[in-house]
Amino acid sequence: MRIHSFESAAAVDGDGVRYCVFLRGCPLRCVYCHNPDTWESGGDDISVETVAKKIARYKPYFKNGGGVTFSGGEPLLQSKEINEISQHLKKEEIGYALDTSGCVELTDDVKKAIEGADLVICDLKFWDEESYKKYTNGSFERVKAFLDHCEKIKKRLWLRTVIVPNINDNVDVLNKYIDIAKSYTTLEKYKLLPFHTMGFEKYERLAIKNPLLTTKPMESEKLSNLQTHINKQLER
Ligand code: SF4
Repeated sequence: MRIHSFESAAAVDGDGVRYCVFLRGCPLRCVYCHNPDTWESGGDDISVETVAKKIARYKPYFKNGGGVTFSGGEPLLQSKEINEISQHLKKEEIGYALDTSGCVELTDDVKKAIEGADLVICDLKFWDEESYKKYTNGSFERVKAFLDHCEKIKKRLWLRTVIVPNINDNVDVLNKYIDIAKSYTTLEKYKLLPFHTMGFEKYERLAIKNPLLTTKPMESEKLSNLQTHINKQLER
């Protein structure tokens, strides 16, 4: 597997205590990305067995529903490897979550990786084909097909959206996301995340043009108001 990094005890990317495996490679170029160092898929190839052993060492911490979260980059670019490692994890009774953009082709391997996951955490980055193209170089239709598949197989789903000043930080735009989210009956949480500038030095270091260089971090109070709006609209 091509891995960027490991992070233990990450409490935000799934149920309970998580062990996060950040996989290399991403087909998108989100304007707000704070991990441009995960975009390229090159680097050392670590065997599935080695990664499975590393994960198994954390098993004692996975009580109360904890487990592994495959993140990235885009973890589903390595869905074949995720399916291989899931065989090892199953023997250890360790579950996994997928933290994905959902902007991937629905191949058999991708479908199998979704089926094997306890939880799918999907970024609903923008609201239509035009906004996806403009801000991520990806395709909304693909994300929609991905989410529709999760719905079809009744997969537990969390959605997340990064809120960026002057792009999607207002209720009118947020309502477009809410309309999409309402179609998914297995949606358990919809979390808004603030745009921040912590990844800016990576753009400098990697000599990549930063499209949001002059954008200020998202204000926490405004974000909290938008989160309250979304929670109210999605109350079931
Ligand atoms: S999908 Fe994630 S890693 Fe890829 S460009 Fe977007 S924010 Fe960055």
